[in-house]
Amino acid sequence: MSAYPELYMIIDGERVYAGDRRTHRVVNPATEETLGELPLAEPADLDRALAAAEKGFKIWRNAPAQERAAVLQGAARLLNERADDLARIATMEEGKPFPEARIEVMMNVGLFNFYAGECQRIYGRTLVRPAGMRSTVTKEPVGPVAAFAPWNFPIGNPGRKLGAPIAAGCSVILKSAEEAPASALGVLQALLDAGLPKEVAQAVYGVPDEVSRHLLASPIIRKLSFTGSTVVGKHLAKLAAEDMKRTTMELGGHGPVLVFKDSDLDKVLDTVVPQKFRNAGQVCVSPTRFMIEEDVYDDFVSGFTERAKALKIGNGLDDGVQMGPMANPRRPDAMEKLIGDAKDKGAKLHCGGERIGNQGFYYAPTVLSDVPQEAEIMNTEPFGPVALCNSFRSDDDAITEANRLPYGLAAYAWTQDATRQKRLAREIETGMLGINTAMIGGADSPFGGVKWSGHGSEDGPEGVEACLVTKAVHEG
Ligand code: NAD
Repeated sequence: MSAYPELYMIIDGERVYAGDRRTHRVVNPATEETLGELPLAEPADLDRALAAAEKGFKIWRNAPAQERAAVLQGAARLLNERADDLARIATMEEGKPFPEARIEVMMNVGLFNFYAGECQRIYGRTLVRPAGMRSTVTKEPVGPVAAFAPWNFPIGNPGRKLGAPIAAGCSVILKSAEEAPASALGVLQALLDAGLPKEVAQAVYGVPDEVSRHLLASPIIRKLSFTGSTVVGKHLAKLAAEDMKRTTMELGGHGPVLVFKDSDLDKVLDTVVPQKFRNAGQVCVSPTRFMIEEDVYDDFVSGFTERAKALKIGNGLDDGVQMGPMANPRRPDAMEKLIGDAKDKGAKLHCGGERIGNQGFYYAPTVLSDVPQEAEIMNTEPFGPVALCNSFRSDDDAITEANRLPYGLAAYAWTQDATRQKRLAREIETGMLGINTAMIGGADSPFGGVKWSGHGSEDGPEGVEACLVTKAVHEG
């Protein structure tokens, strides 16, 4: 079994240990044991990271695409070799079951391999002009990127934040979540071991507001990439706007799920229940607001409840565990508040609705039905293991409810009716829509939202495109 490593930052290729810096205590959410003390950056550390990123950009923007591809492919190979160790570390830090953490590593492997191809397909064009004149349009890397990754996918999020800028020829300063630092360090280490020049990518930790203000105030940084809550995203977007930095914002959601009576209910439940409780519901694309056509509503709620009650909960390192603890003590606190408010306002509780045990941040899989619209949980992303079920009568009502909130990240619909499928595809305001499937991503597919869920995409060709700027050169 992999031991938990000593913690450090990586600045200009150097491991920066705590020394006399402030530290953050990293805790195992399953046991509440201390895993390590994470050094927090001082302004001088951030300045050093900025200087390295400036130098790294000059190096990497001129590196041939084949060299960038070789680094990404090499890192993918190393991540594949190190998958078990890295996944164990992620489970210790974040709590999710080991097999889920391993899938995250493999998602990075797929993404780095995809980007290795994509970075060799950054094309420009030549315009038709009179003889003697030449006009070209080229794509150039935007510049050093400040990237902020949250704790819920401790391997996947840093992989996204590092992969796209590196493919595009940018340098990057990554501040991933202080709660799960060793996973991100493992991803960056694989890139460095695969030959990434040391100046190109840095990993810093700190007091989030101090780090983001410092980095975003620097003219060296030309792009902000943030994944996290809408409230923090709006704050950071304002800071970025002061210097007209580009932004990719992957923010919160409140995933609507429309289930029509013509669908195979058992198949739907067998798909959506594991999706709901994946990573204890702490997933931005989690299915959340279940809207069920009234004829099958009762059967859906009872089938959901039965499956939720049967889930095996425990330490994510133990065999057969299907749901681990929540990642930090803020989440069960939030569940208690949101679910208490929903019950007070008339929602029916079918299972869960309580913490489990007195050690670790566990919260039971919870099913609520008839949840009134005015309950806070119907309007605020719960980010936890709770399904909110309500019935609908007409397609119009279901679509209206799906679009009611200012969020638009992921949405799901289950119906066999082809005409209805087309209508839903056109009318649901969302960045990603799954019709008769919960698989809404992939290395080759854009991942991102609309409205308050943010703008810009990660993954797919769009992920690299988001790190490029366009230049037109006209020669007479
Ligand atoms: P939070 O809003 O305080 O933090 C969310 C993330 O942003 C964390 O990773 C945090 O380190 C970072 N952050 C916070 N303030 C920052 C700042 N000033 N500068 C830079 N980064 C900053 O809340 P939290 O308790 O960590 O998470 C709760 C909520 O965040 C959830 O309810 C969910 O809505 C959202 N969230 C979304 C995602 C996602 O994948 N979109 C991931 C994690 C959390």
